[in-house]
Amino acid sequence: MNTPLKTPKLLLHTCCAHCAAYTVGYWRKQGYQVAALWYNPNIHPFMEHQQRLEAMKSLAQKIDLPMEIAEGYDVIAYFRQVAGHEADRCRYCFQLRLSRTAETARQKGFEAFTTTLLISPHQKHELIVQTGNQVAKETSVEFLYADLRKRYSDSRHITKSMDIYRQQYCGCLYSEWERYASTSKREEKKP
Ligand code: SF4
Repeated sequence: MNTPLKTPKLLLHTCCAHCAAYTVGYWRKQGYQVAALWYNPNIHPFMEHQQRLEAMKSLAQKIDLPMEIAEGYDVIAYFRQVAGHEADRCRYCFQLRLSRTAETARQKGFEAFTTTLLISPHQKHELIVQTGNQVAKETSVEFLYADLRKRYSDSRHITKSMDIYRQQYCGCLYSEWERYASTSKREEKKP
């Protein structure tokens, strides 16, 4: 009698519910048993972080997704990581989040890790791939890659009918500043 094949376990770093919605289904269809990890100390301020976390928890409940929430907020680690590298901050931000994901995957016996960031056309895609591969080498946990950017609007469509919070900027204070500075400049120019 053949021994049944074991379903490989994938730890999915989730940046938000709206990027997770399609991504979870995609990896499930590839034959993985998916669990989510919430570790996003790059989201500022704290109450914004909490709103996005609550949205992710709602989605997880709806789609029956096991979800682990990293302890603490770790905002100091984020600022220490990017200090002095503000222009290149996304590299350090990805390193922080993907290293934690891979390390958790290794400790908890997952075969692989990946991130919902790969579905967003607003993120530095090549840099995410580069960082994922580098972290995989350092931790000996496989990094799974799929270019899901063409499914970004599908993912947002899935969460459209859900009454959950939608963010307006990437996450960090710098990105919030960039998002709203241009709007406030336009407002100032109005007669
Ligand atoms: S812009 Fe987004 S990805 Fe880049 S450092 Fe800020 S939160 Fe991280």
